[in-house]
Amino acid sequence: MATQLPPAESNGSFYDKASGPEKVMVSSMNGSRNEWWQDPVQGLATVRHEFGEHGGVNMSIEASATFTVMEPETLGELFEGKLGPEMDFYIYSRHFNPTVLNVGKQIAAMEAAEAAYCTSSGMAAIASVILQLCSRGDHVVASNRLYGGTHSLLAHFLPRVSNITTTFLDLHALDTEAIRSAFTPTTKVLYFESISNPTLHVADIPFLASLGHDMGVTVVVDNTFSPIILSPLRLGADIVIHSVSKYISGGADLIAGAICGPASFINSMMDLHQGALMLLGPTMNPKVAFEISERLPHLPLRIKEHCNRALSYATYLSKLGLKVIYPGLEDHPHHNLLKRMANPGYGYGGMLTLDLGTKERAYKFIHYLQNNVQFGLMAVSLGYYDTLMSCPGSSTSSELSREEQEKTGISPGLVRMSVGYSGTLEQRWSQLREALDRLNLIADQVTGNCNSS
Ligand SMILES: *Cc1c(COP(=O)(O)O)cnc(C)c1O
Repeated sequence: MATQLPPAESNGSFYDKASGPEKVMVSSMNGSRNEWWQDPVQGLATVRHEFGEHGGVNMSIEASATFTVMEPETLGELFEGKLGPEMDFYIYSRHFNPTVLNVGKQIAAMEAAEAAYCTSSGMAAIASVILQLCSRGDHVVASNRLYGGTHSLLAHFLPRVSNITTTFLDLHALDTEAIRSAFTPTTKVLYFESISNPTLHVADIPFLASLGHDMGVTVVVDNTFSPIILSPLRLGADIVIHSVSKYISGGADLIAGAICGPASFINSMMDLHQGALMLLGPTMNPKVAFEISERLPHLPLRIKEHCNRALSYATYLSKLGLKVIYPGLEDHPHHNLLKRMANPGYGYGGMLTLDLGTKERAYKFIHYLQNNVQFGLMAVSLGYYDTLMSCPGSSTSSELSREEQEKTGISPGLVRMSVGYSGTLEQRWSQLREALDRLNLIADQVTGNCNSS
């Protein structure tokens, strides 16, 4: 499945011809990755291990803003693009930094991408990718189920500052004609999330990627909810974005992002005269990059356990007659689709939602869980080792109007859980059960016990 980016001529903003692909800053890092890439874990293990300056098992942090050269001519050659990171020449850390480049190589290997670069946040990655692909007056076709910040960026901010407009629509209905008719001659991007926040709709990536390519646009997928589980580039997407602040970090202590795609695209983002990352400046701090590089090796293990726990909670909650949305359950409308697309052996994601009908019941439930039985924390975000609980209607999706929320299935009583893996399963289940019993939330009193299946 070759990545199909539009040729330079068809999209003037795509990369600056003055520093076109002949002046490569990062190369296609491991040749044709698609030929040997089998799975994210296998991919991660093929990355060259970088040692520390003194032979340390961990790479050193290149904590320099600027880089020195031996000859004055070298600086000129750097700015002309004749020398670059692949030859171990660096200019300035808002441009390429060796530590950030190294973690980018790890993330690229995980995503089966030719190249990747890291940003200061997920939103920085999203905004700069859109601004790299679209010029003033261009158009985006996007899913109507997006992270609140991305929705606001596309619905409000970009139209105001650049007249880049977006048509939002239900990409899950798979009404091919309805989706096609949203494209205009100025459409440059098809944008969606692999698993969408908070209703856990799963995008049919191969279908949408081929539709996007038929329409001549770049297909961009936010894979924040499903690193390791889904590999959108292998399924036909062109560019993958991550909020690294979530599962990839896993510590809820960092804000970071990543952009994965063809080397030509990553280089275009870094172009000294036309690159959105270089010129808007939200590249990653090398100290943060080091932290991330220490966590990537155990991301697959963490993901497996997030998925295990989420599947067991979802199974038992749904046996109790509660309204659970989890794509790992067979009754989820996209269960088979996810099963077909997922890398085998990792699971169906660590997010689940529980619809308790009213905001009051939802609030009481998460309050009881946190404050009475020490199950989880009332907080937004995801991917932490402890369970995080929020009510999307009044928090992360509050950017959407009530009408938009209704259209996309965000009920006021929706509780979103990013399922953690701390504590034993038995302990957590009895805490959950206590909250449900004390607050009389169980519709059909079926005895649920995590040891009885
Ligand atoms: C959190 C999140 C973002 C934004 O990422 P930040 O790192 O917070 O800027 C984008 N997309 C999704 C799906 C997210 O969950």
